[in-house]
Amino acid sequence: MKFIADVMLGKLAKRMRLMGFDVLYGPSCDDNEVLRLALDQGRIILTRDTGLASRPLAQNHLLITSALIDDQLRQVLEAFSPPSGHALTRCSLCNGQLSMLERKDARDLVPDHVAATVHEFWRCEQCGKVYWKGSHVRHMTT
Ligand SMILES: [Zn+2]
Repeated sequence: MKFIADVMLGKLAKRMRLMGFDVLYGPSCDDNEVLRLALDQGRIILTRDTGLASRPLAQNHLLITSALIDDQLRQVLEAFSPPSGHALTRCSLCNGQLSMLERKDARDLVPDHVAATVHEFWRCEQCGKVYWKGSHVRHMTT
């Protein structure tokens, strides 16, 4: 199950990625680009735009009704279940796959206090962003 978020839903895309959803999002994607990518890659369109949602090529969509991120997330979770397994599988910035990072390799990439206290790290295979459980995830999800 894959998604593409329209230009108004960048925050929602990030929050969904942190839950393990595959969500494509490009702040510069116009409606036609969103439709093309959705069809090419078999993605469900997440949109707040009734105009986009009513287009014949956009049949596979979820029309997000609220402007509030918490309500948006609730609506998504009522319609779809997050992928099972570990939540930290996908980069919130670029939607890349995360892979486990050796603690010794993470040391040079994270703040000292994190390297000293955290044991499990993940790294985005696309953009290189490093993730870890704990304060970072709490920070990312609030
Ligand atoms: Zn990334």
